[in-house]
This record gives sequence, C-alpha cells and structure tokens, in this order.
Amino acid sequence: MIAVIGGGIVGGLIAREINKYIEDVYLFEAKNSIGTGITKGNSGIIHGGYDDPPGSLRAQLCYIGNQLYDEISRELSIEVRRIGSHVIALDESELAKINELEEKAAKNNVKEYRILERNDLFDMEPNLNADALMSFYCPIAGVTEPWKVAMQSVKSVELNGGKVLKNKKLVEVKRKDNKFELSFEDGSVYTADLVINAAGLYADEVARLFGDEVPAIFPVKGEYFLLGKDVKYVNSVIFPMPSELTKGCLVIPTVDGGYLAGPTAHEVKSKQDFSTTRDGLAEVKEKSLRLVPSLDFSRNVVKTFAGLRPESREKDFYIDIGKSSVIHVSGIRSPGLTAAPAIARYVVEYLIQEKLHINLEKRKDYISHVEKIPHFVDTDYGYWVRAIEQDPEAGEIVCFCNEVTKREIREAIRNGARTIDEVKFATRISFGECQGSFCVSKILKMICEETGLEPKDVLQNEKGSWIIDSEVRTI
Ligand SMILES: Cc1cc2nc3c(=O)[nH]c(=O)nc-3n(C[C@H](O)[C@H](O)[C@H](O)COP(=O)(O)OP(=O)(O)OC[C@H]3O[C@@H](n4cnc5c(N)ncnc54)[C@H](O)[C@@H]3O)c2cc1C
Repeated sequence: MIAVIGGGIVGGLIAREINKYIEDVYLFEAKNSIGTGITKGNSGIIHGGYDDPPGSLRAQLCYIGNQLYDEISRELSIEVRRIGSHVIALDESELAKINELEEKAAKNNVKEYRILERNDLFDMEPNLNADALMSFYCPIAGVTEPWKVAMQSVKSVELNGGKVLKNKKLVEVKRKDNKFELSFEDGSVYTADLVINAAGLYADEVARLFGDEVPAIFPVKGEYFLLGKDVKYVNSVIFPMPSELTKGCLVIPTVDGGYLAGPTAHEVKSKQDFSTTRDGLAEVKEKSLRLVPSLDFSRNVVKTFAGLRPESREKDFYIDIGKSSVIHVSGIRSPGLTAAPAIARYVVEYLIQEKLHINLEKRKDYISHVEKIPHFVDTDYGYWVRAIEQDPEAGEIVCFCNEVTKREIREAIRNGARTIDEVKFATRISFGECQGSFCVSKILKMICEETGLEPKDVLQNEKGSWIIDSEVRTI
C-alpha cells in the first residue's frame, strides 16, 4: 500500500497521480474534511511562473504546473479562468524593475508575457491608479478554487479504487520488515510500503516521526478582504512590484465574481494563528487602494480572513527522499497551488520511478474524468429546465447570493459532505454576501435529513464548531 499523509491540494494530486498506476493508495487527512488546510485560505492564483528565483524548484515546477491546469480543469471538472495578470509600475523606480521581470522570465523559460504601455494597460484595466505607467502582462495567469482541486482529486482517487480517510492524524511511526507501521490519533494502525508526506504546515513535524529532518517550517500570515460582486473593479489579477519576501498585496478577481484584496506577509508564532488583525487589514487597505483606488472597503466587504504560508529559511520547496525512504513534500509555499500538478508528477515520475527505481505501469482501467455537481445557473437554459422536470429541487434556489439550488446541496451531501463548510466548499453556498445568514439552517436541516445526524451533531467545520448546542423542537 502507498500512503499519502495530508489531504490538501498537494497530497490530493499526488494520491491521484499514483493512483493512475497503482490502485492501492490510501490518503490520510488529520481533519474531518479535505482541502481545508493552507489550500482553503490563499489567493487562488495560477501564477505565470515568470518571477520565481531562477534555478529554484519553485521556478522549475510553477510554469509546468500552470500548463497542466488545462488538463486538470478538463479531467477534474474544475473551473480555471485564465484572466491574465498585470504587474504594475507606478513610478520611475518601478519601471526599471519591469526589465528585471523580463530577465527572470527569460531564465525561467516563460515566453507568454507582454510589456504594456499606459494606453493599452488602461484599455484593459480602466480602474487602475491613474499614475500607472506600464505593466508586465502575463496572459496565462489565472484563478481557480484550490479546495475544489483537492476535493475533486480525492473523488478521482475514490473512483479509481483508492481510499480517502479523514480524521486520521498520523502520530507515530514504527519500522517493521521494511514497511512502515502508521499509527493514528484515533488508535487505528495501517501498514504501508511507501509513504509520501504532504502535511503542509506540519510536514517538518511529520518528517520527524520518520526520523527525518527537512527545513523547519514557520508560518507567515496573509490577511485578506473578500469584496462582493456588485461593483466591477478589475478584469485580471493586479500585482504591485514584487519584493524578496512576497509577491505583494494584490487585487484578485475570484472565480465566482467577487474580489480579494491582500495578502499581507508577516511571520507569526503559531501554526494555528488564523486571526485577522486591525494592523494587517489596514495594511491591505492602504496597499490595495494604491493599485485600485475605487475599492470600496466601507460598503462592499463580505468578510476578512487569513491564511498561513508554510515558509522555510531556504524559501524554496523541499521535495526529496529522506533517510527513511519516505518522500517529503515540504515547504510548499506560494506558488504551491500552481505547481501542485507538476509536484505530483515530479514525485511519481522522478522520485518514485527514477530515484527509488520502482517500475510503474499505467493502469488500463484508470478513469481520468470526474464529474462535478452542476451549478445550474451556469448551465444552459434547456439543460436546467430538463433537470427541473426530472427533479423539482433543481429549480429551488436556497442560496440567493450565489444562486445554489437544493439539488446541488443534496448532491454534495450524497457525495459525503457532513459539515456546513464541506457543503459550502462543494457548492459555493454561504460563500456570498450574507455569509450563510439565510442558508446555514437550511443546509443543517438537509444534512440531518440525508444522514440521520442530530442537529446538535452537525459541525460548521472542525471538532467543537457545533452550531446548535442543545435539543431543538423542529428544524
Ligand atoms: C496567504 C497565501 C496565499 C497564497 N497564494 C497562492 C497563490 O495565489 N497561488 C499559488 O500557487 N499558491 C499560493 N499559496 C500557496 C498555496 O496555497 C500552498 O502552497 C498550497 O495550498 C499548499 O497545499 P498543501 O496541500 O501542501 O497544504 P495543506 O492544504 O495545508 O494540506 C496539508 C494537509 O495535511 C494535513 N495534515 C497535517 N498534519 C497531518 C498529520 N499528522 N496526519 C495527517 N494529516 C495531516 C493537514 O490537515 C492539511 O489538510 C498561498 C498561500 C498562502 C498562505
């Protein structure tokens, strides 16, 4: 059996890649849902790959990952919007840095970019700061929903005979007859022939369970505002000039029509510190307004949130085989979600096949396509009408912000969603302006109807995040 530790975008895609060759793959995720670690809280950008340090593993895998997203999108039924990105020069000193970006792009073999003069830039992005002088435009950059990539990857693993086990936190490892005996927090034990550690922020701690050392991971927090869809701000991703530490505070259209402003980049002490702060949000406001002055932070804010980057002093991905023969996929900071499909191939084709000399043959019975739950308002009218004829719930809108129907929610629950957030990330319900005020009770009721759970047992997301704390008369 091959075990993958960690059900984020990286572990999900690695498990899927291995599963193309071997049926006996197990993915173990510590939390009760998939894709809710780093994969949940980030900018969602498929980067162009032009500005990672030339020669780094990040640079090597980012552009390939970007290109693989066409296939990922087709096979996993994921929405990828290649809306392009601009790095904006706002003054003379920043103009010089556009040349540096061109030099880096050349070293990283990225050819898909153009330098746009003021007029062309404002034709594309009329709401930019009027001081903008020029942009480095990359048309292959885009946005996606990284948690959906993780969720659809594990769906693909299950479809092809692999196992995806949640609430499985790896806590102890023993070596037995050249195999690994993996013990989990819930007392269960599994034996694996090969292990891939893709534990995100905790990959350094998981490596230590195997007696291996990888570069220490420390969390770097990024705070964001999510803005609503009712105002049109920009058409593409807007970057300032990048610094050594970060790509800067950006303005990003989201897949479902809203906008993100952020992130900050400040080292924090705890890997569990997802708080937003007055100072962090003030910094996001100031920096993003410098790019797009019309951003309305007084009336258009939907929510604020923070994500944690798994940073290392080396500032690069660490993907290698440890002394124990375990493959560690660690330090997967930005552009990790872009690179993730390429990381999965690197692990299987280079580390497993070439370095560990394990011969693998592609399965003939492998099913590459995974269906998604149709979002009916995005389908054509005839399709939707036929769906309603077959099932009236396809016409019953439950989420008015994102126009999600009862049918979509029921499908998500039938596909295994048990928490409010699992339904939310599968369908986009309660992602919108009302943030669930109108729909959480309806989702809760449907989870109870479908699964037989008591309302007090339904969680928002992690353990202890119950919504109702006592008996209810009726729901
Ligand atoms: C603020 C911010 C912005 C970013 N923006 C971008 C961007 O725009 N584009 C881009 O390409 N990248 C971006 N990134 C980087 C990208 O989000 C990450 O590289 C990627 O999500 C990492 O995914 P992962 O699967 O490695 O980690 P995770 O999603 O954290 O998955 C690891 C999983 O392992 C599980 N786990 C941990 N310990 C154990 C254990 N002992 N046993 C079992 N399971 C365990 C965790 O619960 C978790 O679910 C950004 C990151 C941040 C924080």
